[in-house]
Amino acid sequence: MNNKWSIIAGPCSAESYEQLRESAIQLRSIHPNWVRCGIWKPRSRPGGFQGAGEDGIIWILRVKDEFPELKFIVEVSSPNHVDIVLRNGIDAVWMGARTTTNPHSVNELASALRGTDLPVMVKNPMVPDLPLWIGAFERLMNSGVKQLFAIHRGFTTPYSGDLRNMPLWEIPFYLKKEIPELPIFFDPSHICGRADIIQSYIETAAKLDYSGIMVETHPQPTMALTDATQQITPQELGLILDGLDKLSADKNDNRFVQRTLIEERMRILDQELIRLNTERMKAIEIYKKLLGDAENLTITE
Ligand code: PEP
Ligand code: MN
Repeated sequence: MNNKWSIIAGPCSAESYEQLRESAIQLRSIHPNWVRCGIWKPRSRPGGFQGAGEDGIIWILRVKDEFPELKFIVEVSSPNHVDIVLRNGIDAVWMGARTTTNPHSVNELASALRGTDLPVMVKNPMVPDLPLWIGAFERLMNSGVKQLFAIHRGFTTPYSGDLRNMPLWEIPFYLKKEIPELPIFFDPSHICGRADIIQSYIETAAKLDYSGIMVETHPQPTMALTDATQQITPQELGLILDGLDKLSADKNDNRFVQRTLIEERMRILDQELIRLNTERMKAIEIYKKLLGDAENLTITE
């Protein structure tokens, strides 16, 4: 199964030439189709590491000199980023979830990409709004972009629970219905937000109709400057991919797809019940304090 699936792996951020080179060395045994690394990082809050910028491009070019078989993909969120990527011959780009959420930004990127043959991957928008995701593809297609791919990285919802972003599996399924020829990749890293459950999400995705995965890997995950909790080592990814073969029997089994959707719905409902119950307990505590006489109160808990 490993060799039927396209693999994109690499660090959340390019942090130094040494880190990028070490990533490349460790990733080579996986034979990734593309090595990912963010060099302009869209951070929710200011401060902290914002990405290496053009220094990152220079590191990528040095690593490519040494390992010409490796292709690199970076995130772009402005026409200036596209211009720098094109001038330096970077192999492919992806549009991040925050960018896909804003049609003005998508329009600007689509114009900047007009007339190029760069492969473009589009992450789902932050919010579970399928037309917004489809709209990004339409804008890029209208600009003549031919090599398009989707990345399912999950959605911000009030009931994400122990996940960083909810998968809401039905949204990529409907995307596939709307644009059947579009390859869809699965990004477990930004859905899970933590390394210990990445494997089980990759295993679930392996049984669904994805064309590949984009996974964040780091030579020393705990030292990562961004998204340290969710990165795994290239060796760990290699072991997960090796173990996938035995799962392939279920692939495209419609019952498995239905089961995944139902399990996901139950998970959302369970989490919402737990959240509401916790809110209720908190409200009772506040109520008891307000009345100042917890002993004599009779409240059904
Ligand atoms: C990333 O890929 O590191 C990233 C910032 O992703 P997203 O746009 O999915 O949040
Ligand atoms: Mn990241």
